[in-house]
Amino acid sequence: HVKANGKSGVRIYTPDLDLERQRQQDIEDQLRRALRADELEVVYQPIVGAMENRVVAVEALVRWPRRPEGELTPDQFVPIAERSGLINQLGLFVLRRACEDFLDVEAIKVAVNVSPAQFRDPDFERAVMRTLLETGFSTARLELEVTEGYLIDHPQRAAAVISFLKTLGVAVALDDFGAGYTSIAYLQKYGFDRIKLDKSLVDRVTIEKSTGVLVAGAIHMANALDMAVTAEGVETEEQAYVLGLAGCQRLQGFLFGRPMPLGAFLAMAAAAAPAPTAVSAA
Ligand code: C2E
Ligand code: MG
Ligand code: MG
Ligand code: MG
Repeated sequence: HVKANGKSGVRIYTPDLDLERQRQQDIEDQLRRALRADELEVVYQPIVGAMENRVVAVEALVRWPRRPEGELTPDQFVPIAERSGLINQLGLFVLRRACEDFLDVEAIKVAVNVSPAQFRDPDFERAVMRTLLETGFSTARLELEVTEGYLIDHPQRAAAVISFLKTLGVAVALDDFGAGYTSIAYLQKYGFDRIKLDKSLVDRVTIEKSTGVLVAGAIHMANALDMAVTAEGVETEEQAYVLGLAGCQRLQGFLFGRPMPLGAFLAMAAAAAPAPTAVSAA
């Protein structure tokens, strides 16, 4: 480990780097405290069926609203949780909360993000099973979303976890499809139940012909391999129309709703559902 030597002029170590490392350490400590103090929250984003035209699922997303130094987005603190190992605790917290919150909302499936870093924990499978048993949440209503990162580095462990989840009856989705370097071979190898088209593709689907062709092809291929497709980051009617036409089963994005607290979600769902009295009177 080489430290700075001012006289030699070779600066392998810089104060900036040190400052960044300290900042990350601070966030890690704050996050550990927040987890212990139960200060993280979970919000839910509606996912609509392209055919049904109603909310069929939600995605659970973590929030850290009460951080005294100011709120951070999950894109800012999840990577720190992954590096420090706190992701195991964070991930199980979100899973448990989502199962509890939606236990009685039976018409709706629940998608929860799983960081591939959680697969490093040899107890991961048992922890998922324990959460399902303790909450009483039906495995058939749960979907776990994984990103491709870990699949590349640890294909065997990833395959084992995914097949275990599938035997439980939990659906497994490949998140952020098209954002990174997801190889087509992965789609065959892991037997995902679903792929989620990344927002970066959805953003361009109606404005760039080549992206439109690519997305339509990906949806067709996924469906032919018995995988359903969810489009993420749908913001316009035109995108929803094009994606639905291409065979995308589910749509998720600000067009249909932002991530919101449970209460707001339930109020929205109740307002959208036809009143039972109106049905029986008809
Ligand atoms: P993701 O799993 O791909 O989640 C979708 C993200 O896109 C969410 O951001 C959501 O708010 C955002 N989004 C959805 N529709 C739209 C849209 O129409 N427009 C725009 N601009 N954004 C949209 P969020 O909640 O900030 O989460 C970011 C990422 O952080 C997630 O991406 C996921 O990778 C990670 N994350 C969030 N919660 C968890 C968690 O509980 N566990 C783990 N491991 N990761 C999480
Ligand atoms: Mg996701
Ligand atoms: Mg995604
Ligand atoms: Mg993402």
